[in-house]
Amino acid sequence: MVDLHTQYEAIKSDIDAGIQEVLDTCTFIKGGKVNDFQKHLEEYLGVRHVIPVGNGTDALLIAMMGLGLKPGDEVITPTFTFIATAEIVALLGLTPVVVDVEEETFNISPEAVRKAITPRTKAIVPVHLFGQNANMQEILAIAKEHNLYVVEDACQSIGAEYTFSDGRKLKSGCIGNIGCTSFFPSKNLGCYGDGGAIFTNDDELAAKMRVIANHGMAIRYHHDYIGVNSRLDSIQAAVLDVKLKHLNDYIARRQKAAAYYTEAFRNNPNIVTPTWDDSHTTHVFHQYTLKLKNVDRDNLKDKLAEKGIPAMIYYPIPLHLQKAYQDPRYKAGDFPAAEKLVRCVLSLPMHTELDEEQLKYITECVNELTA
Ligand SMILES: *Cc1c(COP(=O)(O)O)cnc(C)c1O
Repeated sequence: MVDLHTQYEAIKSDIDAGIQEVLDTCTFIKGGKVNDFQKHLEEYLGVRHVIPVGNGTDALLIAMMGLGLKPGDEVITPTFTFIATAEIVALLGLTPVVVDVEEETFNISPEAVRKAITPRTKAIVPVHLFGQNANMQEILAIAKEHNLYVVEDACQSIGAEYTFSDGRKLKSGCIGNIGCTSFFPSKNLGCYGDGGAIFTNDDELAAKMRVIANHGMAIRYHHDYIGVNSRLDSIQAAVLDVKLKHLNDYIARRQKAAAYYTEAFRNNPNIVTPTWDDSHTTHVFHQYTLKLKNVDRDNLKDKLAEKGIPAMIYYPIPLHLQKAYQDPRYKAGDFPAAEKLVRCVLSLPMHTELDEEQLKYITECVNELTA
């Protein structure tokens, strides 16, 4: 699904030099490289604060802790997503309220959010799934109306741009109160281990979350909050600082591969290719995900594997039907769009190193097997 090796080969000398610098200085935790990367990412995103942390799941956890949410507070999250979003809500004893997504974009439905609001609702967590921003204009309007926080899960959408109707543009993860991202190796900006970051324009919240990420400790051995230990290490920051310079190029390469796929499937009646509202959002294609019609999806996946083409099902089970998240409030049939998507989605290889020969082979095989 990804080709991290070819990507590394192209930037090897810069990456190796960055890592060597960390080894030479032995500042493995905090220090120069982490500060440099933080500053460069703040500039790239146009956001006041980037708080580097250990991974994307911790970013979400620390965001919720920073907001001071309490057990019983309700947090609205889409049912078609990666589990981390709901996991941290459950771990903190908050009440996850799951809602359906839009079939066209895979993203949280603002209409469904509106219907799910109760007097206990405190936050909305839109997930910018597969690399396009959720309908943030509507979500911010709902949040304002009901005095709710918005925490964006931007783990798959770093670099995507959102345009409001008045022409104002913001980067994904920098639109709500807090944004969270992951630097897991296969993410659009990936390191060589685990990493993540929190974004916010709120000075007070930033200071609090920085402290929470460091054992709740602003002054050494003085603990103001119950915190966690979650850090981006200097070696990962060195890798990320090099790769950040290439992020726009990496995004362009993903978009080019996506355009090739879409063109190749244009006349295939059994395939629905990704759509997004380009007057409001760009798409950075963390995944290129098809919706299949009249095709045995699992059989297609096996047949592609026989031809050496990986394909993945993101995601096979919606949140409300996961064993660990069984809840008497929800049952099969409650969220028809998500329940339809889990049966028909298939993601094709998507990364920065796909060449025309590979794309031609993949699309010819897919067209042949779905004819
Ligand atoms: C990857 C991902 C996460 C978690 O990131 P980690 O760094 O693996 O903890 C959370 N949400 C979404 C949507 C993701 O894709």
